Amino acid sequence: MKKLKSKYLVIPSITAAISLILLLIFNFTTKPSADKLYINFQKDLNSKKVSEVYVTNTPKIKVELKDGTIYETDNPRTDSFKESLLDMGVKVSEQSYVSAKDVIPSAIFTVSILAIAVMLIKSSGLASRKILSVDALDTSIVEEIGYNFKSVAGNEEAKESVKDIVDFLKNPEKYNNYGARMPKGIILYGEPGTGKTLLAKAVAGEAGVPFYAMSGSDFVQVYVGVGASRIRQLFKKAKSHGKAVIFIDEIDAIGKKRENAKAGGSDERDQTLNALLTEMSGFNEKEGIVIIAATNRLDMLDPALLRPGRFDRHVEITLPDITAREKILNLHLKNKPIGNININDWAHKTAYFSGAKLENLINEAAIIACKENSSLIEDEHIDKAFSIVMAGYEKIHRDHIKSSDKDITAYHEAGHALISLNILPNEKISKVTIIPSTKGAGGYTLSIPQDQMYQNKDYIRKRLMVLLGGRAAEEIIFGKDYITTGAYSDIKHATGLITNMVAQYGMGKSLGLLNAGELANNLNYSIGKEVVEECKEMLNELYEETKSILLKNNDLLEKLTKELLEKETLFENDINNLQVLSK
Ligand code: ADP
Ligand code: ZN
Repeated sequence: MKKLKSKYLVIPSITAAISLILLLIFNFTTKPSADKLYINFQKDLNSKKVSEVYVTNTPKIKVELKDGTIYETDNPRTDSFKESLLDMGVKVSEQSYVSAKDVIPSAIFTVSILAIAVMLIKSSGLASRKILSVDALDTSIVEEIGYNFKSVAGNEEAKESVKDIVDFLKNPEKYNNYGARMPKGIILYGEPGTGKTLLAKAVAGEAGVPFYAMSGSDFVQVYVGVGASRIRQLFKKAKSHGKAVIFIDEIDAIGKKRENAKAGGSDERDQTLNALLTEMSGFNEKEGIVIIAATNRLDMLDPALLRPGRFDRHVEITLPDITAREKILNLHLKNKPIGNININDWAHKTAYFSGAKLENLINEAAIIACKENSSLIEDEHIDKAFSIVMAGYEKIHRDHIKSSDKDITAYHEAGHALISLNILPNEKISKVTIIPSTKGAGGYTLSIPQDQMYQNKDYIRKRLMVLLGGRAAEEIIFGKDYITTGAYSDIKHATGLITNMVAQYGMGKSLGLLNAGELANNLNYSIGKEVVEECKEMLNELYEETKSILLKNNDLLEKLTKELLEKETLFENDINNLQVLSK
């Protein structure tokens, strides 16, 4: 930054100094000879030495002699003064005398001072934000840091989904020979501290390519155009190395969905986003440049970013489940002197901890052990650290850590899973988890066995029941008054599905085979009460049916829940085993 300031300040500083010196010189050299008595002026007039007189309304007037000397004398202020001068053949100017010698240096001086002031104001505002220069870009090269997939514990699915990127970065030609188009951009999304940055570094480290990291918020500047130019600089710098991983944290800062597209929004952000998209389409697959972006919320991003050829691979990074937590704890304890620590136990106790928090926990424990002059880190140190970390955490995420919440989530997810097992036995459940994701509290994943072109009415009803399974389980276990907001997105989803059945697909009674959309277009029809009533009734019936299935299979519900609380994530095998056991 210093370099930059001096470079641009040198020019106006020099001109200012020179003009100041000139001003002083001229002032001192011209002033002394400046005054003459009026009689002496008259003598000059009579001897025809005067070439011009500057007659102004001031007490003094300037006189220029034929030999070039200039002096001042008293203004006689007579009406005939000008006339008498003209009669004697003297030029009369009614403007005040200005000499180039006086004006030019002062003009230069003023301009220079202004330039310095503008530069100072600008650079003080911008300097702290590290703009204007490529050198200021906060990029680091990962080869020196040495991250690889071993630095990332857990997150197996995420690692799996970026493995081919590593391979591609190593040999882009290979993929090119097959005509394969690798994603230029990958979005890692998930809660803060789950290791998104870490994974991006690991990709670069595994592939042995430089890692350029910036945060989206670095691009959002007060000055329009700065963000865009920083994007261009970042890409230029990365490209100068050939292959590279470019990491943009907090991509939502520049790529957030425009709330009101027509009203314009922020010009600066649009320009920055456009620059990014342009840069991304500006290099081709052969180059071996991959852009990895991270965000907490995928659904907040502008769809323009997610289109094919841009950030078209989306990888979710979830909070670690119990197995992953154990791995992360192990990893961070690896190079530390540890005593008798029950790591498995700590993995149990740290539900909903992110990787960053686990790392923090171990670090706090190490500090405590050190303060106590203990030669090893012991269980008690982690215990103390746990209280500290929890105290800080509880304030922010109190609702996350209550164990009753864990129970609710477990029953809720078990409810979904059980209904699915029961009424859609052909649909595999690949995963059920109580670890929250960005999409909601817990989560269960269905993988549909075969692609169906059409969904029949029976299937939609069953899907609706699976959606209602979570809320139904909550009600059965905790009672009507203790149902929670956890079913929010299920209910939203179910409402969408059932209104489509009745109003779009011709599967209901009130509209029969009519389509509400067309009715609205052609007949100005607006959805009537009877449609809402019908949807409500249908859902209620399905809900009762769902509850009765859960009640009938209470045993399995309890088992699933217990297992979920124990393992936090259940995969297909776990679920099948449980089901077999309960039969
Ligand atoms: P994010 O980018 O998702 O906010 P980071 O990658 O910055 O998270 O993670 C912060 C720190 O937390 C990492 O440097 C690392 O020490 C620790 N961490 C997070 N996730 C993991 C993980 N899966 N394995 C090991 N350490 C992790
Ligand atoms: Zn649910």
